[in-house]
Amino acid sequence: MRYLKCLLPVFISIFWQPIFGQAFDEDVEIEYIKSIYENILVQSSSYDWLHYLCKNAGGRLGGSPEYAAAVAYTSHMLDTIGADSVWTQPVEVDYWRRGNVEKAKIINSKHLGTVELSVVALGFSPGTDPLGITAQIVEVKNFEELEALGEENVKGKIVFFNRPMEVTRLNTFHAYGAGVNQRTAGPRNASKLGAIGAIVRSMTVKYDNVPHSGATSFKDEKPIPAVAIGLKDADLLSKIIKKEPKTRVNIQLGCLHMGKRTSHTVIAEIKGTEKPGEIILVGGHLDSWDIGEGAHDDGAGVVQSMEVLHLFKRMGIRPKHTLRCVLFANEENGMFGAIEYARLAKANGEKHIAAIESDAGGHTPVGFRMDAENSIAKSSFAKVQQWRSIFSTLGVWDIQPGGSAADISRLKDQGTVLFGYRPDSQRYFDFHHSRNDIFENVHKRELLLGSGAMCALVYLIDKYGIK
Ligand SMILES: [Zn+2]
Repeated sequence: MRYLKCLLPVFISIFWQPIFGQAFDEDVEIEYIKSIYENILVQSSSYDWLHYLCKNAGGRLGGSPEYAAAVAYTSHMLDTIGADSVWTQPVEVDYWRRGNVEKAKIINSKHLGTVELSVVALGFSPGTDPLGITAQIVEVKNFEELEALGEENVKGKIVFFNRPMEVTRLNTFHAYGAGVNQRTAGPRNASKLGAIGAIVRSMTVKYDNVPHSGATSFKDEKPIPAVAIGLKDADLLSKIIKKEPKTRVNIQLGCLHMGKRTSHTVIAEIKGTEKPGEIILVGGHLDSWDIGEGAHDDGAGVVQSMEVLHLFKRMGIRPKHTLRCVLFANEENGMFGAIEYARLAKANGEKHIAAIESDAGGHTPVGFRMDAENSIAKSSFAKVQQWRSIFSTLGVWDIQPGGSAADISRLKDQGTVLFGYRPDSQRYFDFHHSRNDIFENVHKRELLLGSGAMCALVYLIDKYGIK
């Protein structure tokens, strides 16, 4: 019996591995992942890549020449770092251009005179003729108030949607999610009632006067000129409407919907040594809004995803599964890149066991959100729980089920376990979709720590599986 007891650990170590996958030694993995972090903090090129992307391609809406430059640059860099293969996946996108004119002003107010307002056009807004549109403005906080006004009070006017993001929500993404429908659907709901224009309070919790763009959409409704306004001017406008209910506003926009263009998703991979048919995807979206440089949204996610492949090459880690970096086209203006990628993955019978997307900015990492179909959710969440204490040594503590990220979400029904990378959210909406989303507002160390968290997760999934 004593003899058997001595042999038991040996027996387990021999047979455990082939049956249940590689044996997990937490202390060994903590040490190894520490070496991954050290390598990234000293040797990563991702901050330089971000600089080039921001300063040479710049703001890059899907279908634009700037976006084409970003495709060329990232493809070249992924090739240079030694990916086994790099290719682009063509996709048709709607191309919208901002144009040079973008103005709004209060006209002939008794108290203020004529005052320029800080605005930017929303994506897919139509332009105006050179004189613009001029009309009385009506303010609402939500769609219920708009409905209550009815066609008789809205027709021929400009509707001002002035609901602030809820500052009481601790995670700013939740506040954004709860409020963004006034931008995405406000203009079309106003158009339904005969409005000729729309002004939307910017989606930010930073109190300044910088306007934040983003897409709006029209279905069967007549597209009407639509702009976002900085918070200080939103409050000024609201105040003057209360004093002078017949306040009039003029909007001049030079934007134009250019129709369909061919754009490209960039893909690179390192072939797996043991399970080449099983893919672990890391990615972000390569397109961005045009008024900044797309640094946090989503240049950070792009270079962090590229960094995962580069790290595996630098450290000589041969992944068992195929490691694929996907830089999605056109997330901002229609998600066509992600839709096409998922369609082709299904059509070609590709098997993505896991997908990790970074599209929440380049701030300090705090965690991941997970999502998967019911049949695999429980086992994959349980697997990740085993790694919780490893991540807590890295300051990455917030790992929970509940969502992932926009581009990879299309892979959920193909049995993929999805992870949305989550950095600290407090300052993301200071920059998001605004002229302040520039390289200088990304902190190098925070960006690299995010790469470290993503590399650690990919390394663990590759080594131990995810189900
Ligand atoms: Zn984004």
